[in-house]
Amino acid sequence: MRMLKLFTFLACFIAISFVIQGYFNHDHEKSKAKNSIVKGHQTDLEFKKLETDEELNSSNGKKTVYLTFDDGPSSATTHILDTLHEFNAKATFFMLEPSMKKFPEAVLKIVEEGHAVGLHGVTHNKDLFYKSEKSALNEMTTAQATLEQITRIKTNLIRTPYGSVPYLTESYRKVLDRHGFKLWDWNVDSSDWSLSGEKYVNTVIRQIEKLIDAGETPIILMHDKENTANQLHNLLTYLTEHGFQMKKIEENTKPYNFNCYDRCRRLSTRD
Ligand SMILES: [Zn+2]
Repeated sequence: MRMLKLFTFLACFIAISFVIQGYFNHDHEKSKAKNSIVKGHQTDLEFKKLETDEELNSSNGKKTVYLTFDDGPSSATTHILDTLHEFNAKATFFMLEPSMKKFPEAVLKIVEEGHAVGLHGVTHNKDLFYKSEKSALNEMTTAQATLEQITRIKTNLIRTPYGSVPYLTESYRKVLDRHGFKLWDWNVDSSDWSLSGEKYVNTVIRQIEKLIDAGETPIILMHDKENTANQLHNLLTYLTEHGFQMKKIEENTKPYNFNCYDRCRRLSTRD
């Protein structure tokens, strides 16, 4: 009887040991598997997180926003510059060559006040600019030379008219790239050319909120014109109150381009 009790006890002990060991092994495998899943995605997820953290922490915990003004300079440039100055904001101006010739003092003022200068071509006519790889390149090099004459600055920052998609197909991109140009699109379209008054500010704010939720840095497309200048104070008030720092695009900032998926390729093979 005693032997039977002892045997039962031992059998139970061994059985429990197996169960416990099995449980821990299983748990270990699970955590190993979990680790490898995390590692598998680590590059994408963590890289994105790091980038975001870096951006968020880069300026005393402030979030970065890039303000960009196209089609200038113009008679509104001074107004824009004064508003930017008031908020200690920096911006990037993608300028047209004939406008630079018309308002050279405005170009100099943009540079003197520490903003970035970029090129937007000469004609702003899609049929002429995108006529060939050569025409696109010529417009940018012409604008580059005029800017250099006025400011002694040689910039490689460019934004093509109407943005890079759909007209700037792969062969065009390659040519511009080979000549050292850095192409910038945007991820916030203010529609300031069509929306009157404060409406463009509201649409910008809505788009910024979405981007911040997605962990992306807003790059706002605006235009160097009076209506935009008139409402800029409101936009900069919002950005300042919401902890944004308005920075200029540097030559070494990684360019943001529209994601054209296979659209650019398809267009280029058809051409
Ligand atoms: Zn434009």
